[in-house]
Amino acid sequence: MKTCSECKKDYPVLWKAKTRDRGDLCKDCCKGINVLSLFNGMSTGHTALDNVGIKVNKYYSSELKPYAIELTQYHYPETIQLGDVNNWSE
Ligand SMILES: [Zn+2]
Repeated sequence: MKTCSECKKDYPVLWKAKTRDRGDLCKDCCKGINVLSLFNGMSTGHTALDNVGIKVNKYYSSELKPYAIELTQYHYPETIQLGDVNNWSE
């Protein structure tokens, strides 16, 4: 267990977010991360982040397969689909 430098609660070592200015934070005090998942598949990356308790703010996905996109949107409807990376221009 570690102690959160913000709220002073103990939290499991599995979850750790060390910030430059605020020290070690529990997942309730951490602001979360933004993710760009290229070739996202069915969002196993998002599932892994959830499993270790990392808060996700924005999750951008690039995927072509319709069934993978459908599965992603079923489990994580807030996912932002960016389409084919080959079509990105700017
Ligand atoms: Zn905390």
